[in-house]
Formats: sequence, structure tokens, C-alpha cells
Amino acid sequence: MVRCKTIIAHLSEYVDGEATPEMCHMIEKHLRGCHRCTAVYDSTRKMLVITGDERVFEIPSGYSARLHRFLDKAILEGSAS
Ligand SMILES: [Zn+2]
Repeated sequence: MVRCKTIIAHLSEYVDGEATPEMCHMIEKHLRGCHRCTAVYDSTRKMLVITGDERVFEIPSGYSARLHRFLDKAILEGSAS
């Protein structure tokens, strides 16, 4: 079983389409069975839509800090289980 920590570490590559086919497969498989990583995935994707489409790197104030806190928490909880 792949750990949440591993999935979360590679999520941005996956969202960007830069993950290897093996990584994509591993992440997709994990997301189907893990609500926590699915929530992280949704947040990451939304953030990248905001920052990526327009190539605007000034994301809404506080959003990044909140996401990082969320990711830190998710990683901590992932490594505890
Ligand atoms: Zn997970």
C-alpha cells in the first residue's frame, strides 16, 4: 500500500501532467481509495488552475499559506498511520 505522504509529495507533478505513467497509475489507484488524498488533490488542482491558466503567480492572499498548512497536516497524519 502506497503511503499518503508519497502520494502528496508527487501530487503537483501529477496535476501538472509531469508524473511518469507509473506514478499516475499509483496516484489514481490511491485516490480512489483515499478521501484525504482526494481532498488534497482537489485543493492542489484548484490552486494550479488559479495560478496556471493565466500564468499569474500572485495567488489570493492567504490561500497558499492555508494550503501549506493543510498539506502539512495531511502529511503528518499520513505518516502517523
Ligand atoms: Zn491517501
